Amino acid sequence: MGLTRIKHSSHSEHFLLLKYPQEPYRCEGCKELGLGPCYECEHEDCSFYLHEECANATPSAFHSFLKCSLKFHSRAPQGDERFCDACGQDVLGFVYQCKHKNPHDYHPSCLKLRRTLTAEDGRKLHLEEKPPSKCLNCRSTRTSNGIKGWSYVSSCGHYCYHVACVKDMILENWRKGYFVQDGNVNEATYYRALQSSIPHREVALPSGRSSSKIIQIWRKAKTAVMLIISALFGDPTALISLLIQQLLSD
Ligand SMILES: [Zn+2]
Ligand SMILES: [Zn+2]
Ligand SMILES: [Zn+2]
Ligand SMILES: [Zn+2]
Ligand SMILES: [Zn+2]
Repeated sequence: MGLTRIKHSSHSEHFLLLKYPQEPYRCEGCKELGLGPCYECEHEDCSFYLHEECANATPSAFHSFLKCSLKFHSRAPQGDERFCDACGQDVLGFVYQCKHKNPHDYHPSCLKLRRTLTAEDGRKLHLEEKPPSKCLNCRSTRTSNGIKGWSYVSSCGHYCYHVACVKDMILENWRKGYFVQDGNVNEATYYRALQSSIPHREVALPSGRSSSKIIQIWRKAKTAVMLIISALFGDPTALISLLIQQLLSD
């Protein structure tokens, strides 16, 4: 955790304060959606936000999945259309890029994705560069734009979701305006939006299982998705932990 009041070169006219907003924001560094702790301009008129990871980006970085070292750029220096190799979204701003001819690109927040997520019941999801099984959302090992993309996978290997797929679910609902209405977070629509983000029941269900088994599998799939959402968009805010409780009580 960095300092709580900083100056950042991308917005040098004002100080930024570390905050925990209850609604999604667009990071002015990487241009991606954020939902967790961030630096916000203390000037009320500004609406300037930076992911904590974007504000604290270092000139170079490493990741244990990669053999190459990464350099930070406030704009991607090579090629025109670039995608993050972790989450599959466009690279439009802050990025870590390697020096390979066909370089790897990573959003600062994606590079910091936690390697292991632990649910309240102790079950774990592990971040994998190459998924051992198909993603339960898109039923493929590659994401929709053909990027291999990182995945979170349960210890048993059955529950596998692309980071890209989970991010897409949330972004789609955000673009539809489900999260914020008239400047306020609408809890009911927010809840519905997240609930519709959970993959359909059939996805995880092999035929010929008893219904109690089906509910158990469904519940595990939901837990996995909620865990990934909280990893992607910051530690659960009060709102998200409420949603997790509601989703798991079905
Ligand atoms: Zn950012
Ligand atoms: Zn400002
Ligand atoms: Zn990314
Ligand atoms: Zn590389
Ligand atoms: Zn997928």
